[in-house]
Amino acid sequence: MEYRRLGRTGLDVSAIGLGTEYLNGQTRQAVVSVVHEAINRGVNYLDLVFSLPEYLGNLGAALRGHRERVFLTAHLGSTVKDGQYCKTRSAKRSERCFLDLLARLGTDRVDVLFLHNCNSQKDYQQVIRPGGPLDLARRFRQEGKARFIGLSGHTISTATQAVESGQIDVLMFPIHVAGNAVPGKKDLLQACAAHDVGLVAMKPFAGGKLLSKDRTVRVAGYQTGGEALNLKKSSPITPVQCLSYVLAQAGVSTTVPGCKNLGEMAAALAYWETPEEERDFSALLADFEQYVAGDCVYCNHCLPCPSAIDVGQTVRLLEMARQRLTAELRAAYDALPARASDCIECGACTERCPFGVDVIPKLKLAIELFES
Ligand code: SF4
Ligand code: SF4
Repeated sequence: MEYRRLGRTGLDVSAIGLGTEYLNGQTRQAVVSVVHEAINRGVNYLDLVFSLPEYLGNLGAALRGHRERVFLTAHLGSTVKDGQYCKTRSAKRSERCFLDLLARLGTDRVDVLFLHNCNSQKDYQQVIRPGGPLDLARRFRQEGKARFIGLSGHTISTATQAVESGQIDVLMFPIHVAGNAVPGKKDLLQACAAHDVGLVAMKPFAGGKLLSKDRTVRVAGYQTGGEALNLKKSSPITPVQCLSYVLAQAGVSTTVPGCKNLGEMAAALAYWETPEEERDFSALLADFEQYVAGDCVYCNHCLPCPSAIDVGQTVRLLEMARQRLTAELRAAYDALPARASDCIECGACTERCPFGVDVIPKLKLAIELFES
């Protein structure tokens, strides 16, 4: 397992976490086995999206004796009505539900408390109104019941606004290969880096659409973070390719595949044992014709380099550092097998890049930022 810093929270989270949405409705035994397998394999970030009593009871049972091994989230505003999930902006109902969640999980705090599923401007205004959910989350933080405040949502404009407001520490947003060219997505990722907001990538499989056997699928707007897309797949896509794309994106700290059984958990964690060539996702981008010419997607299709430069990772670090040069980014750059200044300008990478990236000027920028 690899661990990454979750933005300004400073938490070291596993790069692959666990989304628990699909554990809802499973037996207690199934929930316990998935959570224990995840923890034993090094997963330390669990996203808990519901406040449903049975779901929380099962997760509470799974976490007994393991609470301190994981970072837990909860979603303020994800409540229950008539036994079903129901979103609310009522501070009173949100408070009741959150306190119930802590009791059922047998813990006194969560690590990240998300302002849940905030999309439209109207919704955002309700969330930040005086006495509303944001104020409630701040009070919980003061009381030690939540360590950090996040926001989850599916709209680029609202998410960007929240990131730039300075009010949130973590953003949870859909990121997957099919949404690569959604307008504004790259800017949003860079805004997270600039404001040191931890980025949690949800829906790495586009709600399962990318893994479906159907060649043509429709991915809804809430799954892309932008416009709805009609996708035509010319070949099957693997969970590992999906995760590989997500983990390559600038600023992503962790992704939370939703696994409802041990088989799905194993398919996600197989990422760590999969050879580089099987992680390659670049063909998928060309397939969907959704890449933007000249934009690096960090796929390393341009290797080998005679100077052993890891072009994808170097450009990825550069793009993050251009927003905010942190000690972590410097350390990651220093740990690379070769530096940008080792480039002999042979041009082989630019020739090989299927996405028209002019690599050498980017390496010169990396030298300026990291080496001078
Ligand atoms: S330069 Fe091109 S081939 Fe190399 S990592 Fe970037 S997008 Fe991939
Ligand atoms: S131009 Fe530089 S980075 Fe690209 S292959 Fe040649 S030496 Fe490597």
